[in-house]
Amino acid sequence: MTAADGPWQTAALCAQSDPEMWFSETDYYRAAAICRTCPVLAECAEETARDEAGRVPAYIQGVRAGLLPGARRRAAATATAA
Ligand code: SF4
Repeated sequence: MTAADGPWQTAALCAQSDPEMWFSETDYYRAAAICRTCPVLAECAEETARDEAGRVPAYIQGVRAGLLPGARRRAAATATAA
């Protein structure tokens, strides 16, 4: 995320950290722990759910909104079925 993304993204902790951590499987749990303290977690979770609903599972990568890809793939599949 960059400052150009929007108002809430400027407070995103991932934008102030090493972005590789959110996409490196060996760092997933560390990234998720940072997400859990992120001041914009609620906004991120809302946008993530909207973005990923119905998305092909293979395209759901990295940590987002404190969730690992597997959890988001299940959520996206459920959103599609609803
Ligand atoms: S919750 Fe995680 S992925 Fe979302 S903006 Fe915050 S640090 Fe980034």
